[in-house]
Amino acid sequence: MKLLEEKIRTEGEFLGNNILKVDSFLNHQIDTNFMQEIGKEFATHFKDKRITKVVTIESSGIAPAFATASLLKVPLLVFKKQTSKILDTNVYQTEVISYTKGTTYPLVVSKKFLDPSDSILIIDDFLANGEAASAVIRILQLVPAEIAGIGIVIEKSFQPGRKKLEQQGFEVYSLARISKLENNTIEFISQ
Ligand code: 5GP
Repeated sequence: MKLLEEKIRTEGEFLGNNILKVDSFLNHQIDTNFMQEIGKEFATHFKDKRITKVVTIESSGIAPAFATASLLKVPLLVFKKQTSKILDTNVYQTEVISYTKGTTYPLVVSKKFLDPSDSILIIDDFLANGEAASAVIRILQLVPAEIAGIGIVIEKSFQPGRKKLEQQGFEVYSLARISKLENNTIEFISQ
């Protein structure tokens, strides 16, 4: 998506450790018009996949996932980063290694919002090592719900996430694919 690449070039900040900051439009301040364009891209791409629900992880995936779900006219289900240690048999739970924090956190979702008849589209803001998406997939496989595809706003293609997900047989559709991220240099895989 050319406009996304342009925004990453002009507004993105490289923080080192392979981390890109895009908080002016994606995950701190949100460019709402632009988010609708992102939603359109995903909704158009996955329109024939009989999606019944869009899922994402709080909080930075919510804006693009909401825009997509709204256009597909399906609910958006937000997987929560758990803080309480109370055991609850009404939720699915798994552990995720956080890319940006380097720590592990429990991810939970209420069982009542997932059903084996669901065909799920997973949306997230970034793809790096594929840990967040893999955690969502582990939970969806417990249901078991069909996983129709994975939509990523910004993929860091020099990291192993895409390969990990494709090896499990999932389609990964990314709107921007970064092949190189170094001081003052950002390169994209042309699509
Ligand atoms: P993964 O689980 O694929 O290793 O990393 C994806 C998750 O880590 C995303 O949900 C995103 O929140 C965060 N993340 C990974 N790389 C970046 C990055 O370069 N910038 C930002 N802002 N978040 C990232």
